[in-house]
Amino acid sequence: MNNEFDVVVIGAGPAGAIAASKLMKDGFSVKILEKLQFPRFVIGESLLPLCMDYLDELGFLPAVVDQQFQVKTGVCFYHEHKKCDFLFENQYTKGWTYTYQVKRADFDLTLANVAIEQGADLEYNATVTAVKTSATKQAVSYTNEAGEALTIDCRFVIDASGYGRVLPQLFDLEVPVSTPPRGAIFAHVDDTKRTDKAGRNIFVHAFNNNTAWMWSIPFSDGSTSVGIVGEVPYIEECDENNGAKFREMIENFPGLEGRYTNNDLKFEPRKIVNYAVSVKQLYGEGYILCGNSTEFLDPIFSSGVTLAVSSGYKAAAIVADHLKGKEVDWDADYGDVLKKGIDVFRSYVLGWYDGTLGKIFFGENQNETIKQQICSVLAGYIWDDSNPFVRKHKTMLKTVAHVATM
Ligand SMILES: Cc1cc2nc3c(=O)[nH]c(=O)nc-3n(C[C@H](O)[C@H](O)[C@H](O)COP(=O)(O)OP(=O)(O)OC[C@H]3O[C@@H](n4cnc5c(N)ncnc54)[C@H](O)[C@@H]3O)c2cc1C
Repeated sequence: MNNEFDVVVIGAGPAGAIAASKLMKDGFSVKILEKLQFPRFVIGESLLPLCMDYLDELGFLPAVVDQQFQVKTGVCFYHEHKKCDFLFENQYTKGWTYTYQVKRADFDLTLANVAIEQGADLEYNATVTAVKTSATKQAVSYTNEAGEALTIDCRFVIDASGYGRVLPQLFDLEVPVSTPPRGAIFAHVDDTKRTDKAGRNIFVHAFNNNTAWMWSIPFSDGSTSVGIVGEVPYIEECDENNGAKFREMIENFPGLEGRYTNNDLKFEPRKIVNYAVSVKQLYGEGYILCGNSTEFLDPIFSSGVTLAVSSGYKAAAIVADHLKGKEVDWDADYGDVLKKGIDVFRSYVLGWYDGTLGKIFFGENQNETIKQQICSVLAGYIWDDSNPFVRKHKTMLKTVAHVATM
């Protein structure tokens, strides 16, 4: 046992690296326990402009820029030969006009290395197995690379374990979501037929009556991430016979015909199903959750990493205040703020699958002001209450969809 660290962060993904950095900036010592050895593969490759604010403020940006990731300036939605482009330079909120499309193995390693340079004690191959919390002292048990069982004491625990969902599982916090069970099948391809005309931004094609969609996310090294999202039975069908249907769909990618062929896959298609999940509570005595460990809705708007870094930052900020002895309101200053942002994306996710957004994106009557306001939500600026498409997210989309199809 030792008592060297103020905070233990579980997981070194984007949420963990950002949380650790923010805490260290506020003068706290941080131990990060990461189950795997980085670089490691994880899906979630298209970032949103909002996450640049956090990367910039905490000093991650120079290292990210050095990686020469693919610059992303917007998103293109495609349906039945119609295209709808959102460019981040044409948005309502005064935010970043670009971000990146990244191989997460490289991106997450870059963030983790910066966190180490900033002073984090990051231990790879360290799997957290148990956590005991109390008002003042927490004990985090883990198995290290050598297979030894160890326990660290600390003043606070931040769970940034993503799909691992360590504390939601240990503390029985998980609750199911009401959306239909969905899944995804994906791979990377050699994108040798890419042309500048085809664009370098994420391309999303909606099909099967809005129950399914496919993505193309070009990287700067000439490869591209491709994937299909749909209800679980459909994803299982795409996966059968060594991914035969997936390969066929990618080969005939609507809107990008002829660009990808069977032989271009850089690894066998991978599948992930039933990823949408939520939690009863976002914090408790001695611990707080951030990133995917809280709630993951759906990948349609590439919001995962952005929510991970924003919640990692906000979680660390409130923990820092608490450890400094300040009076904090966990709900008002963290839980409610996070839920509010997630709820904005929830309206857009629901609107995507029920066809409301399709009516706006592909309708005849396009309004530039409305497009700019929606563009800011798609850029991640979900806490900008001056934007009516944030403030009135529950009602605006239906109203505008009605007008767009009149
Ligand atoms: C099909 C699909 C497509 C997606 N596309 C996008 C996209 O384009 N853009 C986007 O922003 N997001 C996307 N996402 C979401 C994205 O994958 C996640 O939101 C993001 O990775 C969350 O980051 P995180 O830091 O919370 O968790 P993670 O990145 O999952 O990191 C958590 C870390 O915790 C570690 N860990 C787990 N268990 C333990 C343990 N017991 N002990 C110690 N460490 C542990 C893991 O090894 C991992 O490294 C997509 C998701 C899916 C399912």
